[in-house]
Amino acid sequence: MKAAVYPGSFDPVTLGHMNIIERAASIFDKVYVCVMVNSEKNPMFSRQERVEMIQRCCAGLPNVVVETSGGLLVDYAASRGAVAIVKGLRAVSDFDWEFQMALANKKLNPAIETMFLASSEKYTYLSSTVAKEMAKYGADLSDFLPNEIIPDVLNKQKK
Ligand code: ADP
Repeated sequence: MKAAVYPGSFDPVTLGHMNIIERAASIFDKVYVCVMVNSEKNPMFSRQERVEMIQRCCAGLPNVVVETSGGLLVDYAASRGAVAIVKGLRAVSDFDWEFQMALANKKLNPAIETMFLASSEKYTYLSSTVAKEMAKYGADLSDFLPNEIIPDVLNKQKK
């Protein structure tokens, strides 16, 4: 059985993230989506809220498990028996950082490969930050976020 980890901050999970999760779930026997600690100072959602929101969006994907970890990604991946870390690449701008992280993680644990999935062209422009910005100004969020979590984002916006 081959398992992979798909890490991120997912604050909140977008349709771009869901596209990567679905594709990874069709390649691997099991995918662990892992909400990592956000370096952003003020995340919109707590880690537990983000886990619960992704779980709701992944209800139809039986081989996807959603968890959170505050530790090293490679340690989490090893603890789940994962052979790969999956990352989505939107544009060249993602590449430098992701390549550095892939090399650093390889150094920490040579047994775990990083695999990049090219973003679907539909979602190349999309990030959690863009979705939050759109929410602030009352845009229709259905092109950005899974329907399951749009009310959560709108509710936070009101607070
Ligand atoms: P962001 O805040 O930039 O959306 P995350 O840390 O939540 O980033 O993203 C986790 C992973 O998902 C990263 O590998 C990132 O490159 C990838 N990703 C983010 N948005 C998209 C998208 N629209 N299409 C494909 N991959 C994406």
